[in-house]
Amino acid sequence: MEMWSRRARRETCTQIYLTTFDKALNIAGLLHPLMGSRWGFREGGNFGASHRTMGLQIARGREAKPPLRSVRTKRDSRPRLQEATEAAAAAAPAKKSALRFPVNPQTKSFYKRFFPGTSTAEWNDWRWQMRARIRTLDDLARIFHLCDDEYQAVKKHTGSLPVGITPYYASLMDLKDAREPLRRTHIMTGDEYLRGPGEADDPLAEDHDTAAPGIVHRYPDRVLFLTTGTCSTYCRYCTRARVVGNPGGEYQFSTRQWEQALTYLEQHTEVRDVLLSGGDPLTLGDEKLDWLLGRLRAIKHLEFLRIGTKVPVVLPQRITKSLVNILAKHHPLWMSIHFTHPSELTPEVSEATARLADAGIPLGSQTVLLKGINDDIAVIMPLMQGLLKRRVRPYYLYQCDPIRGSAHFRTTVEKGLEIIQGLRGHTTGYATPIFAVDAPGGGGKVQIAPDFIVGRDGNDLLLRNFEGAVYRYPDPGGTLGSGKSNRLAAE
Ligand code: SF4
Repeated sequence: MEMWSRRARRETCTQIYLTTFDKALNIAGLLHPLMGSRWGFREGGNFGASHRTMGLQIARGREAKPPLRSVRTKRDSRPRLQEATEAAAAAAPAKKSALRFPVNPQTKSFYKRFFPGTSTAEWNDWRWQMRARIRTLDDLARIFHLCDDEYQAVKKHTGSLPVGITPYYASLMDLKDAREPLRRTHIMTGDEYLRGPGEADDPLAEDHDTAAPGIVHRYPDRVLFLTTGTCSTYCRYCTRARVVGNPGGEYQFSTRQWEQALTYLEQHTEVRDVLLSGGDPLTLGDEKLDWLLGRLRAIKHLEFLRIGTKVPVVLPQRITKSLVNILAKHHPLWMSIHFTHPSELTPEVSEATARLADAGIPLGSQTVLLKGINDDIAVIMPLMQGLLKRRVRPYYLYQCDPIRGSAHFRTTVEKGLEIIQGLRGHTTGYATPIFAVDAPGGGGKVQIAPDFIVGRDGNDLLLRNFEGAVYRYPDPGGTLGSGKSNRLAAE
């Protein structure tokens, strides 16, 4: 009995306390419009909704027990982004762990020259790299010898897909030669203002297949989730040129839009995996990314997640130990990394991919075939082999999508087949990506491979190997190759 009466007294005290506290907060609520954000109240916020939560937190802090069920506010048990962010900030170690990242010699001399006074710690801080991005004509002209074509093209640019280059990535570019491959992919030229045949702002009809904010649902069991409009660098051939780096400030994520996207995913049980893209999801801060991945992993029918990113290549410093720890919490998690050229394979990138691979994240690459940049087996071979050395499995080689103003980057489809043929058999199959054309109008990816079937001779299928020699394969009952008329089949 004594135990029950003590409990009753405590509950009564709690109720009195809460009632008193609620009254105080209600008075504060009335004063809120007068106090404004100077006193820590968010402008336009739902004060009435939040003060009850504040009351509970304070009561819990003083009382070992939660308040009675009757006064406990019913709420959605899923974590809200702001709470997750605050909790992560509270839990963060007071002292930042030292960032140990290699700096290759070429990059070091670049930053000593163009960013004097910058410490290595700053240079290796991904947020510093984001802030110091080369974004204006003046920034470019300070560092590069711009040719007239580049100068005029940048000068007249307005709208989305602005110039944006991390200082690190700029350090890999040739400062004088406008034809240098990495530079061509990031500094616009006059060709960007030409419209080639079949080009469109949204050639893959992603807007048409958008089922919820940011959710492109085209294939039966998977979706693309555009999480942000921000990238660390802006590629001049970007398929999402229409949405990334929009003027008036890069598109800021909106929790409301994410919530709508999450609701869609919760309702669509046929979706087995989500590819987070953008923009670049790794430009999101750790807490936001952790929160989003956590919410996605909480959806039972989602079997795994994928992240599509260029950050490990253009901003490898972003692959911090804390990011890697966050990513590793949300396994199974895969990553597709956008590589273009072997000159990207620096010690910094090796460190970034090693950290990701060590965290158990399967890494694949995506490369866009670009005229005069990487449309040569002498460029693609070392890139693919270099990726394998860095534990990145070449995954896709894409034909450049017909976005507006990209004709100068586009090769023929035969060129892609020629490159795959140059890899197939000449190096390990692990180094041979899938060559794909994304069918305009929303047809999805179509894989294209060199044809190694020469024809058929009775029960024998005639196959050509990587050296061009023809071999017979016994295939009784088969018909494959019978439609081909060729000299060898007739012999
Ligand atoms: S990183 Fe990706 S999304 Fe961003 S500009 Fe380059 S291709 Fe487009």
